[in-house]
Amino acid sequence: MMQDTNPAALDADVVVVGGGPVGTTTALKLAHGGMRVIVLEAREANLLEGRATTFHPPTLEMLESIGVTEELVRRGLKAPYYQFRDAKLGKIVELDFGVLHQDTRYPYRLQLEQSHLTKLAVDGLEAHPLADFRTGSRVESVTQLPDGVEVHVDGGEVLRARWVVGADGMRSVVRTGLGLDFSGHTYPERYLVLSTSLPLHEMMEDLAAVNYVADPEAWHVLLRNPAGWRILFPAPPTAGTDEEVLSDEYVRRELRRVLPEADLADLDRVTLYEVHRKVAERFRVGDIFLVGDAAHVNNPLGGMGMNSGIHDGMLLADVLLAGADSDALDEWAANRRAVALEFVGEETEGNWEALREDDEERRARKREEWRALEADHGAQREFLLRSSMLASLK
Ligand SMILES: Cc1cc2nc3c(=O)[nH]c(=O)nc-3n(C[C@H](O)[C@H](O)[C@H](O)COP(=O)(O)OP(=O)(O)OC[C@H]3O[C@@H](n4cnc5c(N)ncnc54)[C@H](O)[C@@H]3O)c2cc1C
Repeated sequence: MMQDTNPAALDADVVVVGGGPVGTTTALKLAHGGMRVIVLEAREANLLEGRATTFHPPTLEMLESIGVTEELVRRGLKAPYYQFRDAKLGKIVELDFGVLHQDTRYPYRLQLEQSHLTKLAVDGLEAHPLADFRTGSRVESVTQLPDGVEVHVDGGEVLRARWVVGADGMRSVVRTGLGLDFSGHTYPERYLVLSTSLPLHEMMEDLAAVNYVADPEAWHVLLRNPAGWRILFPAPPTAGTDEEVLSDEYVRRELRRVLPEADLADLDRVTLYEVHRKVAERFRVGDIFLVGDAAHVNNPLGGMGMNSGIHDGMLLADVLLAGADSDALDEWAANRRAVALEFVGEETEGNWEALREDDEERRARKREEWRALEADHGAQREFLLRSSMLASLK
């Protein structure tokens, strides 16, 4: 029946709902492949969020196809090493992405705020004759028709496309409109992220650009990007309401756990996030697909949310551009759901468990496991193939 669709009667081949990093990159890939795309983004402005700061090697490889990798690498900070540390003992192990030099063209984590990618992708869409990027366009619902999909936009406009990609984030109206379950859990802690331009690499001994610091009372993560450093702390339920966690007193106390001399004036930004682990029941319903946070959300420890979302979109675009075989689309949906559940979910939760472990014996065992990686090249490569997400695409 799909073959009967009259392309002239359609507003686009694909409507992408959501103009975040996943929606914009997916749309740009489709346009580069010769499809007419419309991206509908609810917000008028302020699209440039800075949640994610880590780009993994396979993501950089995939983004080559839309011509943005070179510029990302130029702007970003290459992090060829990362550390597991202990709050009291300091560095436990430093892992070297160099062991992946035969597995990827990018043997490092690239540290750069996600807003750089979104901006580059939006610029690409705006310059592309087959793409139409619209802000201030909130989608209210999508309806599967026998020969395509109808998209209802706030204000009354109705668009028709052959396919719709829901890239509208964790509160996706595309997903909820399809009645899909989004089960999982919300973590007990929120994550408090403090951004500073203080040179932590000069103030603390022997830091890498990416550092996971274990501590049963106050584990944290220290992440460098070209704009400065981010310090991520868990804020447990006992820390109080969001307002209390964001109070000067609370923020100052957390900051001084890491930097005893620092004060609020040293902070450029303070943000608080809820953290979830949830996966949609299906990633495909007919001609409607879910990608990115609309399909899955995970603990950010390990930096895999945006990355796996980009993998969803890039791989979906490959299948659509190759002729949109229905079996291949089902296979895409099943594979990507399995990656979200079994790979990203497990990896990120494993990082969380390791950092917060409070049993001294298990903590000591974990430290030994980490140290053993440094000495064993093969084991380190296996470990890094997973943490770099290369193993999720095998
Ligand atoms: C503290 C923190 C750190 C993180 N660090 C990393 C990291 O280092 N690496 C990593 O890979 N991931 C990281 N993540 C996760 C990452 O930020 C998200 O996975 C990523 O932003 C998801 O992108 P997206 O495009 O799917 O969704 P979003 O970024 O949420 O974009 C969705 C877009 O859809 C729009 N929209 C919503 N509803 C509608 C509608 N009805 N109509 C039209 N438009 C709509 C929204 O306005 C938004 O622009 C982190 C997350 C947190 C909280």
